[in-house]
Amino acid sequence: MKVCEGIPVSPGIAFCQAFVLRSLDEGSVIPRSIQKDGIETEVQRYKDAVKKASARLDKELNKLEEQDEISRQILGSHRNMVADPVFAKEVAKCIQEQYVKAESAVHIVMAGYLKRFESMEAAYISERVHDLHDMKRNLLEALGKSVSRNLSSFESEVIVIGHNLTPTETTSMDKGKVRGFAIEVGGRTSHTAIIARALRLPAVVGVKGITRDVRDGDTVIIDGYSGEVIINPDEATLKTYKARAEVADTYYRELVSDVGLPAQTIDGYPIRISANIELPDEIHTAMEWGAEGVGLYRTEFLYDGKELPDEETQFKSYKSALSLVGDHPLVFRLMDLGADKLTLPGFDHEEQNPFLGCRSLRLVNEYPEMFRTQIRAILRASHFGNAKLMLPMIAQLEEVQRFKKLIIEAQRELDKEEIPYNPDLEVGIMVEVPAAALSASQLAREAQFFSIGTNDLIQYTVAVDRVNERVAHLYQPCHPAVLRLIKMIIEEAGKSQIPVSICGEMCSEPAYAILLMGLGLRNFSVSPVAIPMIKKVIRQITMKQARETAQDCLKFKTADECQSFLNVKTRRWLPNPW
Ligand code: PEP
Ligand code: MG
Repeated sequence: MKVCEGIPVSPGIAFCQAFVLRSLDEGSVIPRSIQKDGIETEVQRYKDAVKKASARLDKELNKLEEQDEISRQILGSHRNMVADPVFAKEVAKCIQEQYVKAESAVHIVMAGYLKRFESMEAAYISERVHDLHDMKRNLLEALGKSVSRNLSSFESEVIVIGHNLTPTETTSMDKGKVRGFAIEVGGRTSHTAIIARALRLPAVVGVKGITRDVRDGDTVIIDGYSGEVIINPDEATLKTYKARAEVADTYYRELVSDVGLPAQTIDGYPIRISANIELPDEIHTAMEWGAEGVGLYRTEFLYDGKELPDEETQFKSYKSALSLVGDHPLVFRLMDLGADKLTLPGFDHEEQNPFLGCRSLRLVNEYPEMFRTQIRAILRASHFGNAKLMLPMIAQLEEVQRFKKLIIEAQRELDKEEIPYNPDLEVGIMVEVPAAALSASQLAREAQFFSIGTNDLIQYTVAVDRVNERVAHLYQPCHPAVLRLIKMIIEEAGKSQIPVSICGEMCSEPAYAILLMGLGLRNFSVSPVAIPMIKKVIRQITMKQARETAQDCLKFKTADECQSFLNVKTRRWLPNPW
């Protein structure tokens, strides 16, 4: 049994067999069995793959200059290895005897070779190991797409273990079979973590060396509350965690059963709770749990990483989302792509600092059509419900002005085409860059509402990459600078008489929710999974207590002191099922 520590990012406890997701180079092949009558097909597939890989290597060899002797030798030896008849015989035997697909057979046979090589000590062996990995990659590539990191179908329940998971991989996971995941990188507000919460999958990130420590088939426990990952637990530990999981489930069910009660403090202050929607299906649960609309609709989910959705697809999707929230507002955020989210087709710039680079609305120069199409679709949908439009990543007044101009242009187009839209559609901005917070009074003249995006605001204020587990301890919501900025945004919105809400993950965490209420926020947009808990916490306290807590928090000089104070101060109001 081994216990590893990581950052808990999505609540829940899961236990079952591990599936270790390796990079393609390391041979991520889901073991797939075949029927007896599939043997011939698989052997033939392997033969075809050998031909394909050899032809590709020949082509590369031909491209090499005559005098590039060393490269020619290396490539030549790889070509010979790929076509090696002894290896081919072993692969065929593996397919025939173990009833597995060609990819799995390559993986299994190669694992045997590597094991033998790795147990030898001679220095030249490491080079050979390298060659074997190359050979395997060549063969797997030639076998085609079935070697991709496919997480969309498993035969039995699994916990996925990996170095990293992209947001697309996370979204595409087999919902019926994947019970949770643990990865080596990431932070609490990384996009992958946000998706885990949207899917309600227990998840732990930043677990050092987990891919080295876990093997396929090991039993793993993931504790999405504490961040512990336990490999091959003993009987007693497994029993303890099963009991913990039951307590947590019962507690969560109780929270959900109270979800109809109002989000109102003991002394009668109502807090408006809306939902952050990451995946469209979440709207149903959010509304069922009493969300008063959607404060952040992350429209990026419509983009699959390959092709941008056209106007009609977007219009239909937005219209249908609006129909689910009734008269409540639904805030559509313009596509916020780049950095840890998906990049656009054809965007092939290698950026040193993608979070500071050409992301989000800054893509307008290269992809004007993308924004034009989306604005048109949102305007058209606005005719059918209470839509609002939100601009992410605003750092300068000119950006707001430019996008408002684009909106007016789209309105003129729709007028000409006689397509209806809401001419009074409100346009607001996310305040998630310190520059925007500091110039809130100017921005408030152009924006009809503010929504505080603490996920990015914290990252940019304390200069800590939100997806980097190595600096995750420095990503501090209680940093005095962060609290002052939030306070400043609220005050400026008040002076300018525009509504302000918060949609960063900070307000989905109970202790911070109390602090944020105390700072003056009355509109929270939270992850749906957090709605029952946040509502309960609001019902536990008075606004006076929240204000006092916030005032005390503002006095601290360091984030750590403030955090410790907040933990102790709010403990009695926070639910603790253990
Ligand atoms: C934020 O930055 O706080 C936010 C809500 O947006 P995202 O997490 O999508 O960047
Ligand atoms: Mg953001």
